[in-house]
Amino acid sequence: MSAQVPVLEDLGDVRGKRILVRTDFNVPMSGPDEDRHITDDFRIRAALPTIEWLRERGAIVVCASHLGRPKGTPSAKYSMAPVAKRLAELAPGVDLLENLRFSPGEEGNDDAFTRQLVAGFDLYVNDAFGAAHRAHASIVGPPRTLPSAAGRLLQREVEVLGGLRESAKRPFVAVLGGSKVSDKLGVIEALIERVDELLIGGAMCFTFLAALGNTVGDSLCEPDQIEHCRKLMAKGVSIQLPEDIVGVDASGEYATFGTRLPQGAKGFDIGPGTAARFSDVILAARSVFWNGPMGMFEDPRFAAGTRTVAEAMAETKAFTVVGGGDSAAALAEFGFDDDVDHVSTGGGASLEFLELGDLPGLAALRGAPRVR
Ligand code: ADP
Ligand code: MG
Repeated sequence: MSAQVPVLEDLGDVRGKRILVRTDFNVPMSGPDEDRHITDDFRIRAALPTIEWLRERGAIVVCASHLGRPKGTPSAKYSMAPVAKRLAELAPGVDLLENLRFSPGEEGNDDAFTRQLVAGFDLYVNDAFGAAHRAHASIVGPPRTLPSAAGRLLQREVEVLGGLRESAKRPFVAVLGGSKVSDKLGVIEALIERVDELLIGGAMCFTFLAALGNTVGDSLCEPDQIEHCRKLMAKGVSIQLPEDIVGVDASGEYATFGTRLPQGAKGFDIGPGTAARFSDVILAARSVFWNGPMGMFEDPRFAAGTRTVAEAMAETKAFTVVGGGDSAAALAEFGFDDDVDHVSTGGGASLEFLELGDLPGLAALRGAPRVR
């Protein structure tokens, strides 16, 4: 299965048409509630190719996005005003609606809210990959009545991730880390059917190590997932786990371990031996998908494993894709974000798309009425 979606060209002549563009302007912000400012405008700039394509062809563009989790109630903290201001600088004349999640109808996928949203519009464009796995009103509602298309960002995500899923060049290697196994079991199960090697680091490695009978001390571990991990490994697929671990001992001192952690010890990173082995596998691959830091990289003592993997991602000749908010942040922090082929704009969405091969937002676009 490949998740084909209509693209901007399928909208026909857009001159004079009013177009609702669902963007992902869920940007990082800081400052007091009444005086928020944007700390990184990457997501706004990322929507410009779509916005400009439409405007160059004479369309009237209005953007709409959610911001944070206001849970259905308007508040100054989650106002779109700072985003609207930045958008006005980058794309003068493009309007932005107020935070979609100020209405409970957005997350509730409410019909009346959708009708209100699409009133006065001729066409709908979804360029919010990071929200395309949610069946929210602004994602699945407009295509029920308006001719619709994927914007450039969404189109590229579908091409890259769909390509990896269906026809990755081999060897195809997946590197998974991050905090929770339970979040990622679905994608692990889908990936082991497709990859040649699955490298596991991050906190989730401890549940796998425990499933092999190792002691993990006080490291993050999900006992209720141990049996599941054991079954996955029994399938005979190539899952590679760490052989050395870096962390702290029972008295809180920095320490290195093998795969058996003593009582009270905590593992916070893969060790140098594991990092070197993972790096070799990435360098020899022809396609690599990476999601989830190899350790608690926010603490410089435990960043080395993630840094080594990021370096290998930058250096390998393989086609490289990174998904996941924290993995992308780590990559950027180490200065390698320009050296990989694709950094996905959606963490949860990229995992769900790799797992299932489709998303509610993509299915909605395919079901939209055609332009007459
Ligand atoms: P992503 O956003 O890339 O999908 P996750 O959200 O799953 O990644 O996980 C990222 C978090 O996992 C980071 O905050 C990191 O500190 C944490 N983490 C990784 N390894 C460990 C570990 N061994 N112990 C505790 N936390 C860890
Ligand atoms: Mg995360």
